[in-house]
Amino acid sequence: MKRMMKLWLALAVCAALCFAVCACGDKEDEEDTMYYGDAPAESAVCPLDGEEIENTNDIGDYLFIVSVENGPDSEPQSGIGEADLLIEVPVEAGINRFLAFFYHHTPDTIGGVRSARHYFYDIVDAYDAIFAHCGGSPQAYDIIDSGEMKDMDEMSITSAFHRISEKKSPHNLYTSYEELSKGAESRNYDKLDLKNCPGFNFYSEDELNALSFGGVEELSLNYRFKSVSYRWDESEGAYQRYSKGNLHMDGALDKAVIADNVVVLYIANSVMDNEGRLDMDIDSGEGELLQNGTVTAINWDLEKGNGFVFRSAEDGSDIKLIPGRTIIQIISPENKAEYTPASADDSEVAD
Ligand SMILES: [Zn+2]
Repeated sequence: MKRMMKLWLALAVCAALCFAVCACGDKEDEEDTMYYGDAPAESAVCPLDGEEIENTNDIGDYLFIVSVENGPDSEPQSGIGEADLLIEVPVEAGINRFLAFFYHHTPDTIGGVRSARHYFYDIVDAYDAIFAHCGGSPQAYDIIDSGEMKDMDEMSITSAFHRISEKKSPHNLYTSYEELSKGAESRNYDKLDLKNCPGFNFYSEDELNALSFGGVEELSLNYRFKSVSYRWDESEGAYQRYSKGNLHMDGALDKAVIADNVVVLYIANSVMDNEGRLDMDIDSGEGELLQNGTVTAINWDLEKGNGFVFRSAEDGSDIKLIPGRTIIQIISPENKAEYTPASADDSEVAD
């Protein structure tokens, strides 16, 4: 009899609990999920590339900028086709380097990783990012040794990087978002909240639908020892990147690197030491933006906490980017970008 009582009591409690749960509104249900399980999936927009993120739990914990080699021995690089933002910047001896941003996109393979230059830290500082590299110039080490930047140098945190067998040293140093994250955690670097990540302004869906192709099919840049160009690809609805006339591939994706927005920043440089190392101030200046066949003259600033800010050179209004990949090309002002419109034959066919 006692046992029967217990059973009824148990059933009654069950029923009461069921009623309580069912009687709750949607809001309380959500709170229940938050309390007992993982944080609910929230959608958002990536501040760097304007892509929809279905589940904010999928974003990385840190914003990394990786120094990626950018010469013939390093191609095809890995990760550059997935970077949330990609910047090409000159270093000495007529070569360039990539600064590849990773936050929302978290690739398994990124590289080859190369060394730091002091002016890279203008950008690292503006984005409050963690900079991953292997070694650096003496001027870069002045900054690294000051301890003012969040820095992950392979020389001091070897475990965050690995060597691959397919390439020879020094072209074989690679990393992954996971390796970098473990390194950042071991150094107790603060995690980055999505709302604190600097980003760009993007066109809304309606604004995008109202845009029509502006006719510029190619952008060419002449660096000292190489040409870089972007050619419109109708099937991608974006520009494909070419390095020395060859389609520039991402080795890990086995896919051409594409850009929805190409931003050219004109920044003067000077030789500062016997090694031919460059000095440049990445702070403000003039430039151009190519998107959807239209070239816009811009003024730009690099602001702490905001990153790169682009404004129309004509009226100072904020510039909007097309959601997708932005590649920033830093080049000396005497090497003006050349823009090629669709040929007359093409327009006739198009008509
Ligand atoms: Zn992104």
